[in-house]
Amino acid sequence: MSTREARCSCGRLRVTCQGEPALVAVCHCQECQRRTGSAYGVAAFFPREAVSAAGPSADYGRPGDSGFRVLQHFCPGCGSTVFWEPARRPELIAVAVGAFADPGFPAPQKAAFEEHRHPWRRSPATRRIRPGGSGSPRLR
Ligand SMILES: [Zn+2]
Ligand SMILES: [Zn+2]
Repeated sequence: MSTREARCSCGRLRVTCQGEPALVAVCHCQECQRRTGSAYGVAAFFPREAVSAAGPSADYGRPGDSGFRVLQHFCPGCGSTVFWEPARRPELIAVAVGAFADPGFPAPQKAAFEEHRHPWRRSPATRRIRPGGSGSPRLR
């Protein structure tokens, strides 16, 4: 079973993930745009029991587009959001794929909130998730 580690910019907040993610998804929602400072977010969803965090973290709760809350955990030292808890899927932890900094990480299977997608960002390899009530992508 593979073990992967995600971490913040300064390295103090680390998350260890056992096994393969249940889902990897691109999210074009505006909250992900603002959270990352990029044009979209990429999240790997792992079963809660497969994820362990170490190091200091602060959190920020926000409503998701679905109305379910999302609790983001970030490093108080450098500000990177490393993982978050989607209230819509309490059995899962979402980990920022960029925090693994691993080009070999499994590619996204899905895209969400494409109505907010920047037009230059095409996602031909991903399957569209229809908007409406989904704060985090559904599992297949
Ligand atoms: Zn940090
Ligand atoms: Zn999003």
